Amino acid sequence: MRNVFTVDLEEWFHVCGVPALARDHWDRLPSRVEPTTRIVLDLLDRHHVRATFFVVGWVAERHPQLVADVVAAGHEIGSHSHTHQRVYELERDAFRDDLRRSQRAIAACGASPVTMFRAPEWSINDRSLWALETLAEEGVTVDASMAPLKMVGAVGYPRYPHRRHTRAGPITEVPPLVADRFRQVMPMGWGWGLRMSSPRRVLRTIEHANRAGVPAVLTIHPWELDPDPPRVRLPAGLHFAHYFRLGGFRHRLRAVLAGAAFGRIGDMDAVTATL
Ligand SMILES: [Zn+2]
Repeated sequence: MRNVFTVDLEEWFHVCGVPALARDHWDRLPSRVEPTTRIVLDLLDRHHVRATFFVVGWVAERHPQLVADVVAAGHEIGSHSHTHQRVYELERDAFRDDLRRSQRAIAACGASPVTMFRAPEWSINDRSLWALETLAEEGVTVDASMAPLKMVGAVGYPRYPHRRHTRAGPITEVPPLVADRFRQVMPMGWGWGLRMSSPRRVLRTIEHANRAGVPAVLTIHPWELDPDPPRVRLPAGLHFAHYFRLGGFRHRLRAVLAGAAFGRIGDMDAVTATL
C-alpha cells in the first residue's frame, strides 16, 4: 500500500503564538527556507518519492522559483495558509481572505489551482469546524488539518482518510499518523513524535495502519532538516516541539523513506469512508 508523505513548506519562524516571531518581525528574521527545502527535495528525489507540499502563501510570494521547482519535481501543492495563523483565532471572513491570498500567491508560482489545505498547528478542530465549509466554498476538496490528538485536536477524530459533508459540498479529510503508546495517543508520523521514534517503530506503525487497509500520513517541515537552525527562546512546550532531537533526523528519515512506499495525497486510493 502506498502511504502519504507531506511537507509543510514554511520558514523556521512560522510558529504560532510567540510574540518574538510575530508577523511584524518576519522580514527581519534570517530566511532558511531555500536551503532547507532543497535538502527535502534532494531527499525525496533520492527515494523516488513524490509528495504533497503545503505552502505558506507568504513564502510563495518571496520564493516563487523555489515553489516552481517543487512543482517541476512532480510534487503536489496545497496551501498552508497565507500568514500562518491558527484558524480558530480567525473570523470566518478573515480566514477566507487569508486562504484566497495564499491560493493566488501559490498559483502565481505555476501550481495548478490550489484545492488542498492544511491549517497551521492542526488548528481545524471543534473550535473551528466552520472552516471546512469555507474551504469547500473556496474550491478546496482535501483538508489535512484535523489531528486525532488531544493537544491540538481530539483523540476521537478518525485516524484514517474519510469524507466529511459540509453545506458547500464534501471534503476529504486526511489526518496525520498517530500511535497508542504509554496509554496515550502520540504523534508518530510528524513533529517530535517522528523525530523521537526509531525508524523501526515508525515503520511498524505504518505497517499496522496498512494491514488495517489505511495509508499512513507523514509530515515534515524543511526547518527540521536545517544543519544549523537559528535558535530563539520559545515557551517550554514549543521549544520541545520545535527543537527536540533534530540531530540525526535526516538519517532516520532516510530509513523511514526506504522502508515503506510513499506518494502524494492525490495518489491515494479513492476515499470511501464517510463521517
Ligand atoms: Zn506550519
